[in-house]
Amino acid sequence: MRVSLFGIEIDKYNFEEGVKEGINLLQSSSVSQVVTINPEMFAQAEKDSEFKKIIDNAELVIPDGVGVKIALKLKGIDASRIPGIDFARKLLEYCAQNGLPVAIVGAKEEVINKAVENLKSEIEGLNIVYYRNGYFNDNNEVYKELRNANPKLVLVATGSPKQEVFIYNAKNVLSPCLMVGIGGSLDVWSGTVKRAPVIFQKLGLEWLYRTLSQPERFKRIFPALPLFLLKVLTYKEK
Ligand code: UDP
Repeated sequence: MRVSLFGIEIDKYNFEEGVKEGINLLQSSSVSQVVTINPEMFAQAEKDSEFKKIIDNAELVIPDGVGVKIALKLKGIDASRIPGIDFARKLLEYCAQNGLPVAIVGAKEEVINKAVENLKSEIEGLNIVYYRNGYFNDNNEVYKELRNANPKLVLVATGSPKQEVFIYNAKNVLSPCLMVGIGGSLDVWSGTVKRAPVIFQKLGLEWLYRTLSQPERFKRIFPALPLFLLKVLTYKEK
């Protein structure tokens, strides 16, 4: 089932259902795109119609952060939060168990190297057939390398909206696979950035932890959530 927020359709699944849908898409006969949507991306979609079009065309749109969950709640809709990092991890495990090749693109060179090393040692049987850092100018070169590697799951961590655009444009050029934009997940998997303690995760307060532990992000992130929620209350769905 899909629900609408700021004119954007979001899939309403609990975590297990969302993962199941991801697994279904892994078996699809075309390239599919998963968008893990957060408040900043709604703001981007509002000012950038190309970006909105990309989200509208995504096969799966899941509410990543607590902000989207609360926003839907304000509209009387109960939705689960599906953290992109946990969703992607489940898909990696599924691929490892089922012999499906995986590719990962994104983050700084030392970050992706360490993340790949950690993932390989933590997930038995994980077959990473291609990876590279997220700082490149020529998307076509990366598409070409991906075509040669032929993965079934491609995780892209180059930040938003860059990763969504990269995935969208890959739809016409890659063999069938599932592509997921995973933001800063490689920073966490590499151990470069610490994830919030479980208690913060359970309470949906990861954003608060992140804000406190990275004060330089405070100015950008902190006002975003209350402003986003205020907008939900005043926005009229068309
Ligand atoms: N990143 C990248 N290529 C770029 C810009 C960013 O690979 O051109 C990576 C960056 O190294 C980080 C991830 O994308 O691992 C998320 O970036 P950022 O922190 O800017 O995004 P946010 O988490 O704030 O959405």
